[in-house]
Amino acid sequence: MSKYANKRVGILALQGDYARHQHLLDMLEVDSVLVRLERDLARLDALIIPGGESTTMDIVMDRFNLRKPLITFGRSKPVFGTCAGMIMLASEIENNISNVTPLGLMDIGVDRNGYGRQVHSFEASIDSNLAGERYEMTATFIRAPRITRVGPGVTVLAKYENDPILVQQNNLLAASFHTELDDDTRLLTYFLDEVS
Ligand code: GLN
Repeated sequence: MSKYANKRVGILALQGDYARHQHLLDMLEVDSVLVRLERDLARLDALIIPGGESTTMDIVMDRFNLRKPLITFGRSKPVFGTCAGMIMLASEIENNISNVTPLGLMDIGVDRNGYGRQVHSFEASIDSNLAGERYEMTATFIRAPRITRVGPGVTVLAKYENDPILVQQNNLLAASFHTELDDDTRLLTYFLDEVS
């Protein structure tokens, strides 16, 4: 039986790379739910907000009346935001020309395309500190947001060229990069074991 047999994890599936996250959850035999409606959040132990396009996510979130339920969920339950998902978790967005309204759950500031445009996408091998253990992983940055401010309650778990790229605040985990593109489940197991 899977170690995670009793866990049910939602993936916000309004837009973006939710299918890859589901694939990783399948690899770990975790029960997953694609979240599009408020009722999909019921009985979830944790939620993943994937990468994609925060401007679209912002609009669709309101259209599906999900903003308030997501804020309520993130105030008490584990949420992992990657890339656009991290933008949505943030408290403030710098250079916010598209007027994306983040959920304001995490005490971080972000610059939406701080690592450049699509053509500047890159992969890097990064060192992380996961529960006191050093772990090296491949991080894929695609129009990646840069973390510009980290509040006092936020722990930095990985950096790239001296900037934080993986951060945790209690039940909330956020990464600037895509974490789901190769079949490396280590960050996901960290989320399930240590954050959830
Ligand atoms: N910069 C993008 C945005 O603003 C996020 C890119 C991504 O999720 N890969 O939504």
